[in-house]
Amino acid sequence: MKDCLFCKIAAGEMDTDFVYEDEKVVVFEDINPQAPVHLLIVPKRHISDLNSLKPEDGDLIGHVYQIAKKMAAKFKIAESGYRLVSNCGDNGGQTVYHIHFHLLGGRELQWPPG
Ligand code: IMP
Repeated sequence: MKDCLFCKIAAGEMDTDFVYEDEKVVVFEDINPQAPVHLLIVPKRHISDLNSLKPEDGDLIGHVYQIAKKMAAKFKIAESGYRLVSNCGDNGGQTVYHIHFHLLGGRELQWPPG
């Protein structure tokens, strides 16, 4: 989608280093990390947010979880634990309206989040 930052990143137009890429998703480091490991798992196809998900997107979201598991092992946070989160809407703290999943780990995370 035109003017979407994560569409541009996923298309390779922003010179972003991917830590993982396949036909469905790209994974890269968050520019403003909130934990020692803070990755963004981003579907290549533009979906604005969780509210826009359709039943047929189930396979894609399942794939995101499989990649999160793979990245947790790759970045050595699988054993200590980690969090996978997708912010939705203004109250959810979403700032980029292209669905994405934060993978956070490498320190003890607080609950509830602020
Ligand atoms: P949200 O606030 O849940 O929508 O998450 C958007 C995330 O994208 C934030 O954690 C930002 O730090 C991150 N971000 C914004 N621009 C870039 C970029 O150009 N590269 C990597 N991460 C970015």
